[in-house]
Parts: sequence; structure tokens; C-alpha cells
Amino acid sequence: MHTLSGSLSTGNTTPSALDALLDLKHPVKAAIADWADTSLQPDDLDQRDEQCSFWTEGWQRAADKGLLSLMVDPAFGGAGADIVSGLLWFEGLGYGCPDAGLNFALACQAWTMQPIIERFGTDEQKARYLPSLISGERYGAFTITEAESGSDSFTMGTTYKASDDGYVLNGTKAYVTMAPQADVFVVFATKDPALGSWGVTTFLVDADTPGLTVSANRPKMGLRTTPFADVNFDNCEISTAQRIGPEGSGASIFSSAMEAERAFVLAFQIGAMERQLDDAVAFARTRNQFGKPIGDFQAVSHRLADMKLRHESSRLLLYKAAGLAMQGKPSMEAAALAKIQASEASIASSVDALLTHGARGYVTEFGVERNLRDVAGGVIYGGTSDIQRNIVARMLGLS
Ligand SMILES: Cc1cc2nc3c(=O)[nH]c(=O)nc-3n(C[C@H](O)[C@H](O)[C@H](O)COP(=O)(O)OP(=O)(O)OC[C@H]3O[C@@H](n4cnc5c(N)ncnc54)[C@H](O)[C@@H]3O)c2cc1C
Repeated sequence: MHTLSGSLSTGNTTPSALDALLDLKHPVKAAIADWADTSLQPDDLDQRDEQCSFWTEGWQRAADKGLLSLMVDPAFGGAGADIVSGLLWFEGLGYGCPDAGLNFALACQAWTMQPIIERFGTDEQKARYLPSLISGERYGAFTITEAESGSDSFTMGTTYKASDDGYVLNGTKAYVTMAPQADVFVVFATKDPALGSWGVTTFLVDADTPGLTVSANRPKMGLRTTPFADVNFDNCEISTAQRIGPEGSGASIFSSAMEAERAFVLAFQIGAMERQLDDAVAFARTRNQFGKPIGDFQAVSHRLADMKLRHESSRLLLYKAAGLAMQGKPSMEAAALAKIQASEASIASSVDALLTHGARGYVTEFGVERNLRDVAGGVIYGGTSDIQRNIVARMLGLS
């Protein structure tokens, strides 16, 4: 049982970034953590982790609770909540629900895929897609990466060509979260690779469009319960109504959509870091060696202090980025710092949790080793740590 409170409600007030930062047990976060601790506790997680299988029932429960609709405009069925509320909900989710693959899938749709439709889509696209996405009925995915264009994403080889009444897409996207499950894809394609970022346009493509095929699930190190695959477009015809934004605006849509969201996606992982710390502290208090609790050994207690430092500093940077974004100020540097810190701190703390638990950390049944595998992807997706450091260096005036 992981609990941050017991009987707190989500309340009706709008928390500020400072409120969220100063109150580790903020009532909004605590209420979601407690809800997830009771409602999102899969009893077959080890098995699904081994078999790479997604928890559809958990997804629906989370959607019913409002995790996907929370930040969406009430005109399309959402709650219209702000970024800080969204981060508190996702932190609470990460604290209470141990299925990081489910949490990651929810975070990708809520922070990356849906906002592109809401911010850049036409009224018709919003009305057609948002209600069924936020209700959990349909799944969405976001595709930019390709086998040969990863960090250098605008060198993509997936092309679009104008046809009589729309466009024809050709190419293959890689490493797409939720692809095997998705009903609709946000797709970035280029008119001509030689045009670089100027040639990129964004499209919405239904999964049942002729010419679109999805590969089998690609098993991975962690987040194994999130389906993951490649998406192929073979003379895939779509109408003009499926284009998001003007032709050539894909790079700016991508950059704007990812400015701070690349860090916000990690809120669930920061919640998981807190649960990991609480578990490690509880273990250090009760595991006795040499006639006393292992937490009495400074080598162990300092490891836990370092985990606390990493967790709090990750939150500090995350809510700084959120505060800036909510004030409409540039948040790219703060978000890059938050992403580096949260993703790298999660790995370091997962190693410390493993060490603290000894062999219990290494065997599968306690979930400690799974945390380490689950957090490893955070330094890659949404732009690698190296790419985030490039952003920070650029902001410092370096090349
Ligand atoms: C769990 C997970 C989920 C993902 N989900 C999606 C998704 O839903 N949709 C999607 O489109 N993609 C997704 N991706 C793909 C992800 O965005 C890419 O893996 C990422 O952008 C890096 O690209 P790459 O893997 O090709 O690595 P590369 O770009 O080939 O990088 C390899 C190495 O070189 C370094 N490097 C590259 N360029 C530079 C540079 N200029 N300066 C310094 N170092 C550099 C990198 O940091 C890295 O260490 C996902 C990846 C993972 C792991």
C-alpha cells in the first residue's frame, strides 16, 4: 500500500507552480496517488512485463477518472485544467500505479499527441478526434522518428505528395509508442528531404487508412507494457482535411508542441521516484544486518539522502518549467534542464534503490529491478540527454 494521504479530494482550487513545489503532499497529487493505489494495482504486472502486454482495462479506468480529459478544453469534453494541475495528477499517477508502461502511454497521449490536435488542429479535427481520445475509446500515437533520422529528426525520409484531393504518404516511422494499439497517428512527413525543416508538414492519419501498416510489437528493455512498433506508409492516401496546420509548418508545430512537454511527460516518473524513495526508506528501517537496521549505516542512509535530493531537485526544475509555460514565458531551457535532471536522476536513484535492497532488488518479484529498466528510456525519448544539453549550451550562447 502506497499512500500520500488518505481522504483528500482533488478540490476546486487552481494550484500555482509554487504551491505544487512547496507541498510534497499536495492534496491534488495525494488524491490521485491514493486513487491509483487502489484502482490501478494490476495483479499480473510481472507477467505482462515479461510478455510485453498492455493493460487496456487500466487505460480505461484512467480515462474514466479523467487523466486524458483533464487538460482538454471543456468544449470538447475536457476539464480545462492547467499545466500545474496536470503535472500533479501525473505525479500522483506515477506514485500510486506501478505499471510504468501504462503511465507512460497515458502521459504521451495527454502531453504530446492530444495537445497537437487541440492547439493546431481545425475545429472539425478537434470535434472528430478529441472526444473519443479523451474518453479512452480510441488511442493516439505520435510519429516523427525514423530508423535513419532520430535526433536529427527533420532529415526524415517519409514523404508526402499532393494528389487530386489530398496527399499520398510514403515511408516508415520507427519506435512509435502505442503504435500497435493506435486508432489515429499524428505523422510528420516531408515534401522533399532536401528542404530540411522547411519541408515538413503534420498530418492526422487513421490507422485503418489503406496503405498504413503497423509492425509487430518491438520488445524493449523497460516500459515493456507499452506497445511499441514501426509504422509503414505505402502509397497511403489521405484527404486535405487530414493536414494539421499549413504546409511547411510541421517543424514549428513540433518544436512548439515539444518546448516544455518533453519534460512534462516525465511527471509520472518523478512520482515513481518518490514511491521508490519511500519504499527504500521503509526497507532500510526494517532490514536488519549486524544487529541493527541497515538505515543506521551511513553508507545506506546517505544513499537515501541522495535519492531525496534527486527527487526534490527534479520537481524544482519541473515546476519552474511549468511556472514559466503558464506565464507564457520561454520555457525551453528550463524544460531541457528538467528533462535531463528527471531522467538521469531516475536512473541514479533506481540504481541506489537496487543497492539498498540487495538481492531482493535484483530478483523480479519485488519490482525494484523493473523500475531501473523502466526509467532508462527517459534519457532517450523526447530528445536524448545529449540533445537537451545542446539546447542548454545554445541558450548559454555556445554552439
Ligand atoms: C521508450 C521510447 C519511446 C519512444 N517513443 C517515440 C514515439 O512515440 N514517437 C517517435 O516518433 N519516437 C519515439 N521514440 C524515439 C526517440 O524519439 C528517439 O529514439 C530519439 O529521438 C533518439 O533518436 P535515435 O534513437 O535515432 O538516436 P540517435 O539520434 O541516432 O542518437 C544516438 C546517440 O548519438 C547522440 N547524438 C545524436 N546527435 C547528437 C548531437 N547533435 N549532439 C550530441 N549527441 C548526439 C545521442 O544523444 C545518442 O546518444 C521513442 C524512444 C524510446 C526509447
